[in-house]
Amino acid sequence: MSQSLWYPYTQMAHAQSHHRVVEASGCELVLESGERLIDGVSSWWSVIHGYRHPRLDAVAKAQLDQLAHVMLGGLVTGPAEALADALVDITPDGLNHVFFSDSGSVGVEVALKMAIQYWMNQGHPERRKFIALEKAYHGDTTACMMVCDPAEGMHRLFAAMVPKQHFVPSPAGGYAASEELVAAELDQLEDVLMEHGHEIAAMIVEPLLQGAGGMHIYSPAYLAGARALCAEFEVLFICDEVATGFGRTGTLFASEQAHITPDIMVLGKGLTAGYGGHAATLATDAVYAGFLGDSPARAFMHGPTFMGNALICRIALESIHLFQETPILSRIGEIEAILKARLTELDAPGLVETRVLGAMGAIEVDHPDRLIQAQAVARDHGVWLRPFGRTLYTMPPYIISDAQLHQVCDALCQAISA
Ligand SMILES: *Cc1c(COP(=O)(O)O)cnc(C)c1O
Repeated sequence: MSQSLWYPYTQMAHAQSHHRVVEASGCELVLESGERLIDGVSSWWSVIHGYRHPRLDAVAKAQLDQLAHVMLGGLVTGPAEALADALVDITPDGLNHVFFSDSGSVGVEVALKMAIQYWMNQGHPERRKFIALEKAYHGDTTACMMVCDPAEGMHRLFAAMVPKQHFVPSPAGGYAASEELVAAELDQLEDVLMEHGHEIAAMIVEPLLQGAGGMHIYSPAYLAGARALCAEFEVLFICDEVATGFGRTGTLFASEQAHITPDIMVLGKGLTAGYGGHAATLATDAVYAGFLGDSPARAFMHGPTFMGNALICRIALESIHLFQETPILSRIGEIEAILKARLTELDAPGLVETRVLGAMGAIEVDHPDRLIQAQAVARDHGVWLRPFGRTLYTMPPYIISDAQLHQVCDALCQAISA
């Protein structure tokens, strides 16, 4: 094991040796020892079509014979233009402008900064606060940390250092929450908007599925209600679809299930099918128009070196073609049905709840200690899982076969009963 490499979220004093992956294909990782593991978490939810997909590999190789990268300052490539056009086509109606950046966190930074500068350009520099949900996770960089759950989130250590934002409770009651519950929670949001709306630039949410905060599912009714309230108070609404985008919750984008168009939407993770870092921040005509004018100072002041990287845009475009030409969404429906059948029957000591939405299945237990052995047990069953806190979950690649998915479910059930 290299002594040089510093691992993510890892106490290096106790770092167990990481498993060296020498090869991967389809849903399987091949370790140096020859051991094969089904990747039950799609490399942090990104490798949505599996490893070494023939069509994605082919366009990557073809693009390398043309060029890998050119900056977007004064130059552009066909893949960057084509991907922007395709994203406008497939996202909810009204999102017509695409700003590229290098990772989900930066895509969220771009969204927050866009919201603030939008209001500055409108003559409202006082609108620079955000509303976010408890249990939220929006990335690791500084502005992202300020909209992550300040009490329980993984960045709580930094709560005193980042500017304080307004948080409202994470919606309860699950996907089919009762009308009364949703109405009460929206009343709470309305109170915050009435009191602080004039200083708020935007509300940011992970639509329907709060991922890294514990795979918490909430209702389309809340999402639609929050969107409508923000419109009423002229607060921009940002959907962070970095985790939910590209089919994970059963529709291409989670926002579709609430029939909403946010003012700003962020895509990452599955955008590149896991082939490399990239993000897209989409905006409506109204937001975009807020930056137009004769003054250069009104222009959006952002520009990551690798935005619109041609190699990654070409791959992302081919991934969209896969969604358009093959029945991936109906396959996600089948994955959801199997996950529901297998996980809802589960009964184990300390089990709090099982949750399934699209190609995501999660099991919450009452104490993190119950999951200490989970990864090792899953590995004995040929499956790679990586629980966090009290949550053990799977977000498999959509190409997973029924047999492989049952193997993942076996591993989850054994890991939870161990
Ligand atoms: C993963 C994630 C991010 C951050 O993306 P990175 O590419 O890791 O920077 C932001 N928002 C959500 C909802 C995520 O799940």
